[in-house]
Amino acid sequence: MSGKTAGGSRTEATSETTTIGAYLVRADGAEERIGAATLDEARALAEEWLREGIVDAVEVDLRTSWADGTLTDPDGEITQLSVQVDPEEPGCTERTGHQWAQVKGSLWGHGGGVEYTELCGRCLLLRDTDTWAQRPDTGEQGLRSVTYRRTEEVCL
Ligand SMILES: [Zn+2]
Repeated sequence: MSGKTAGGSRTEATSETTTIGAYLVRADGAEERIGAATLDEARALAEEWLREGIVDAVEVDLRTSWADGTLTDPDGEITQLSVQVDPEEPGCTERTGHQWAQVKGSLWGHGGGVEYTELCGRCLLLRDTDTWAQRPDTGEQGLRSVTYRRTEEVCL
């Protein structure tokens, strides 16, 4: 570098608040460094990283899934993170889209919520909604989950 600078002295100094901190997100033995100016920004990026880690499995299983992780800030402070990923609704065979109708007798209460199944009358896709879902890994309750099933899997 020549060290040659154009123009005179600049009065605007770079603001210190734009300093990028080094955060570290960890989950299931994996970790990723995140450069962020604020904890909120780092948290958003870390949650996105957690989602990316399970989104493929969610799209295969067509079932809501959860992931936990930790975010360590530059001072060593640890923040617990938890994300939920819902499966993307599979497309309908009809251009007009799904026409959901609740399957008779499929509504039942459990815990503090209800569970019910809906059927698309056009493509015969089933959708299970649980308003009091429990995480299989942590046992945490009171979550909302959705599962899609093709009717080949059930006996009609
Ligand atoms: Zn449909």
